[in-house]
Amino acid sequence: MNDQTNNESVGEGFACPNCNETNADNLVCNENNGLVTCLECGHVYDPLGTATDEEIEAEELRLSNLDDEKAENTVSELYGEQMDMS
Ligand SMILES: [Zn+2]
Repeated sequence: MNDQTNNESVGEGFACPNCNETNADNLVCNENNGLVTCLECGHVYDPLGTATDEEIEAEELRLSNLDDEKAENTVSELYGEQMDMS
């Protein structure tokens, strides 16, 4: 099986408004709030028009925090319940 040629692109309405990215691999949809994050430029947008500005800002904030604390979050997510360092 060779899936590397499977370049899925999203519909026009879902393209990143900032850099016009349409490659589905680079557009991550958050199913919780319907927001899409463009991995190409880091832009967060709302293709469905259902999220509020506050939700978009919160998503941007969440992502930038994730970026800063990526290592820490990954470790605590993976080992949070096993690591009991009291
Ligand atoms: Zn983009």
